[in-house]
Amino acid sequence: MERHALLTDDLIKLSSCSEHVKCLIIGSGPAGYTAAIYAARADLNPVLYTGILAGGQLTQTTEVENYPGYPDGIQGPEMMENFRKQAERLGTDIRLGYITSVDFSGMPHVVVVDEAKTITADTVIISTGASAKWLGLESEQKYNGFGVSACAVCDGFFFRGQDLAIVGAGDTAAEEAIYLAKLARKVYMLVRRDEFRASKAMVQRVLNTPNIEILYNTETKEITGDGLNVTGVKVQNNKVQEETILDVTGFFVAIGHQPNTHIFKGWLDMDETGYIKTKPGTTYTNIRGVFCCGDAQDHVYRQAVTAAGTGCMAAIDAERYLAGRAADLILEEEAT
Ligand code: NDP
Repeated sequence: MERHALLTDDLIKLSSCSEHVKCLIIGSGPAGYTAAIYAARADLNPVLYTGILAGGQLTQTTEVENYPGYPDGIQGPEMMENFRKQAERLGTDIRLGYITSVDFSGMPHVVVVDEAKTITADTVIISTGASAKWLGLESEQKYNGFGVSACAVCDGFFFRGQDLAIVGAGDTAAEEAIYLAKLARKVYMLVRRDEFRASKAMVQRVLNTPNIEILYNTETKEITGDGLNVTGVKVQNNKVQEETILDVTGFFVAIGHQPNTHIFKGWLDMDETGYIKTKPGTTYTNIRGVFCCGDAQDHVYRQAVTAAGTGCMAAIDAERYLAGRAADLILEEEAT
């Protein structure tokens, strides 16, 4: 099993420049910032490392209309800036930096920032999120947020009554195609093989949805646009080697997500795709004092509001864990 651990020599070398914190939060999406807000208010003096994409996935979207409390909607980057400001105002020490390795073999936990600085922490809250997988086309990135999206629940609403395409053939793609079909006039589902990967039940639901047209053996070649917005998608049927342009105004990518958890491999229990396992109903991982929230442990809901909810849970779990440890120490002292 792969372990991104520190060698003992490295630890000795780095210990001279280490810093100790009560609560270290890794990641700066809705989960991380919410954990920070709660941890700061619980006097845990949290230190939060933002990761490479400060603000997380929402900084790459445009309008967010489904986050409660914003009756007129809000731009994703602005919302994350609000989260950041709130966490900072309440006392979170927010730092730019990327955690490159961890060592959870003992207490306190050890993390290394940018391969240079070590930090020891009584509690670690992991909120490193997940990244949508993309096809890798230039046009896909060009129109990302302007007709291209990797989240039907987030952005489907903007395409009511329009014609859309979605690529993918797993459970996510099936679920999102059905969701989009309720809003859109027509949904083309682009399946690269001649069969789905999704469960039989989901495939049946897709087949029973009259305004979904499935195009099998179909590869996306390019997303076309007018320079501002998506106007179509060029696809190729690999059986007959025929190219067609579908007139659509929205293009949804649903080919899976990748949790950003590789640095914790070998330390934390994960499922086969890398999502961190938490004890049901809590944010506890298999390591004491290490908690996980947001998309790094959730492949089902993946919403900003659910991430924020589990961020809150992680801070409360960390606070109670520390309070429990403090009480244990007092009892131990009294016993000696
Ligand atoms: P999956 O990995 O299951 O499916 C990804 C799909 O995308 C596959 O059909 C794959 O095609 C296709 N794909 C990958 N790369 C490309 C590409 N470059 N071009 C075109 N198509 C591509 O991911 P999901 O997100 O769908 O599901 C992840 C996990 O979450 C699964 O275990 C799933 O069962 C679960 N899930 C469960 C749900 C539920 O129970 N309600 C809802 C959503 C997800 P191919 O098949 O040819 O490899």
